[in-house]
Amino acid sequence: MRIIVAGGDGFCGWPTALYLSKQGHDVTIVDNLARRKIDDELHSNSVTPIASLEDRVAKWKEVSGKEIKTFIGDLNHYDFLSEVFRQVEPQAFVHFAEQRSAPYSMIDREHAVYTQTNNVMGNLNVLYAIKEFAPECHLIKLGTMGEYGTPNIDIEEGYIEIEHKGRKDVLPYPKQPGSFYHLSKVHDSHNIMFACKIWGIRATDLNQGIVYGLHTEETKLDPVLANRVDYDGVFGTALNRFINQAAIGHNITVYGSGGQTRAFLNIEDTVRCVEIAAENPADKGEFRVFNQFTEWFSVQELAERVQKVAKEEGLETQVKQIENPRIENEDHYYNAVNTKLRDLGLEPHLLTDDVIRDILRTALEHKDRIIVENVLPSITWK
Ligand code: NAD
Repeated sequence: MRIIVAGGDGFCGWPTALYLSKQGHDVTIVDNLARRKIDDELHSNSVTPIASLEDRVAKWKEVSGKEIKTFIGDLNHYDFLSEVFRQVEPQAFVHFAEQRSAPYSMIDREHAVYTQTNNVMGNLNVLYAIKEFAPECHLIKLGTMGEYGTPNIDIEEGYIEIEHKGRKDVLPYPKQPGSFYHLSKVHDSHNIMFACKIWGIRATDLNQGIVYGLHTEETKLDPVLANRVDYDGVFGTALNRFINQAAIGHNITVYGSGGQTRAFLNIEDTVRCVEIAAENPADKGEFRVFNQFTEWFSVQELAERVQKVAKEEGLETQVKQIENPRIENEDHYYNAVNTKLRDLGLEPHLLTDDVIRDILRTALEHKDRIIVENVLPSITWK
């Protein structure tokens, strides 16, 4: 299958591009390298040293014999995107290419506007490009479990049956996102649903949980293929961030009471979920939603698990509750459905102590790269 991986230079996109290429798909990466520029803006970095995209794909060719084509450019430049569609004629478009940090979107007006313009308009351009150049192309769009927020009822997969004044309907599940970034994803979902309805586009919205880990079988083949890992207060996500704090002997910092419960999955499952979606395309005009996670944990629970594994590795760290920079429920109900990907064959890699140990050992290997001032939150929601 001819597959475009937009955002293929990023944390989820790079291992996905390698994995799909290994499975024999004809993979093309589209990326504007914005994430690398944001590292410069924030004076931050990936824990693992990452090679340039050019060197990455050259090394992949050397170790696998397979070619991944690259287009460096922005989804918001429609002329560029049109040319990519004309040349590649994609059968699937995997869309990771968005600004994905909630704190980054909350820095100030400028960053909120950038996030929503980049994400919502970029996605709208992709929808138009599919309509214009590749109407059969299956859009596989990365959404987030954060679109749903934390309602006091079970979270369904995209839709919920409602009975109201004696009548019934199946409606989009209510969305209560917690940042301007998460809102951009909700806006995307609405635009995709509408485009499916009016133009007959086929789309799958993957409402992904928080991704942890870094290695996949393919990224481990050579240091030049290494994946990026974020640990800072802006882009570092819970678990990866806790593990990196433990690696440098920093307190593991939990926001507020730590009762916030979130859905998680291993990066090795991200790549497989995308493959499953690609191999089982949505029907024409169908807007399909999969909840892409394997387990959920409270952040306090995760912090304690990291502390335990770190101790076994000879590292003493404390779990410390700090003032919550976000505005969110710290004590809430959480029960989310995730059966659709499992039904299509996903076999989860669950979070074991060995998985935590493996990420910790990688962090320890590169701990000199960790910029200590960056591990605490610097952005508040107020
Ligand atoms: P990332 O920032 O590491 O990668 C995103 C990539 O997209 C970067 O390489 C960036 O340069 C590129 N990009 C951004 N805007 C672009 C544009 N306009 N044109 C072209 N390229 C552009 O992020 P990630 O962690 O790999 O996340 C990928 C996707 O998965 C995002 O959409 C994110 O919202 C979603 N997601 C991620 C997580 C997670 O835990 N990492 C969880 C849920 C959902």
